[in-house]
Amino acid sequence: MLQQHKTYVVMFFVACFALAAVAVFAAKPGQGRQSQVSVAEPADKPDESRLRPTAAVRERRAAEEPARRGSSNATLFAAAVEQNSLFKYELDWTFGGRQQHGWYLYVPLISRLIETDANAAPHHFASALARWQQSAGLAASGVLDDETLYRMVSEWQGSRLKDKTAAEAHQLLLAPASDFYDPARPDELRQVESATYAAYRRMVAAAAADPSLGLGVTPAGELAPSEKYLKIISSFRSREYQERLRRESPHSGRAGLAVHSPHFTGRALDLYVGGEPVETKDSNRARQVQTRVYKWLVKNAERFGFRPYYYEPWHWEYVGDLNAVEVKVADRR
Ligand SMILES: [Zn+2]
Repeated sequence: MLQQHKTYVVMFFVACFALAAVAVFAAKPGQGRQSQVSVAEPADKPDESRLRPTAAVRERRAAEEPARRGSSNATLFAAAVEQNSLFKYELDWTFGGRQQHGWYLYVPLISRLIETDANAAPHHFASALARWQQSAGLAASGVLDDETLYRMVSEWQGSRLKDKTAAEAHQLLLAPASDFYDPARPDELRQVESATYAAYRRMVAAAAADPSLGLGVTPAGELAPSEKYLKIISSFRSREYQERLRRESPHSGRAGLAVHSPHFTGRALDLYVGGEPVETKDSNRARQVQTRVYKWLVKNAERFGFRPYYYEPWHWEYVGDLNAVEVKVADRR
């Protein structure tokens, strides 16, 4: 009799354990998607529904507690802030067939895209991101996950130079050696498409006039010969030159040896923004994206018609002044 009673007790506990296991399993939504990211989940991972506040919830809370709007915003995005602090350095994603880690290298570009300050507090960042996600048709989670990052990358890539036609000789001018990072660069490698060069000069004049950048400037307002920042590292490269480079170092995987380089157009400029001039190692790019000059370019280059190649902080492409084109069209009417 006692033996039978013991068996019932054991069976009761086994049943309880099985039920608990089922409940735990069922309470973990989104496991499939999350598994793409090799980040240890925080132990107290919140229910995913809390990561996706709707605009309606935000508006209602803001209306109810106008005086505590800031703190309610911080509470609302607490879970997103926690996820972002992990994803910033750990999010696994791919670009150009290579594994990438985190999005910390792109904070200046991301901040500009989502219209918030690059030094914004984490909950302001999450809240600005949620607004951008909503405008982009994504779930407004405030979490910068892989889906959101891929959308951002396609925005950046989509605003680059579309016409990759190689420049003809009459479209190029020979820029003075003093504009180059290496003033000993031969004539063949100092050619720039003429409208691009004019825009580059306007942009550099604006940077030189900005005292917050602390650039070395001549009395005439030009970059001093000793100043390295914003000098041109590389401009027009002919197909012949590029092919010669490839023959000389056939195993080099560098983007500089690309078969369809935007440098063929004469409208792509590699500018010195700090660190090793053109080195894609994360540690080098981390130095570059923190320089005042790089941050200035992210904020201002577009005014002069230049767009970034997000992956190479030094590479900028002249797509022209789109506003000027619109003005011309309006004038004709
Ligand atoms: Zn380049």
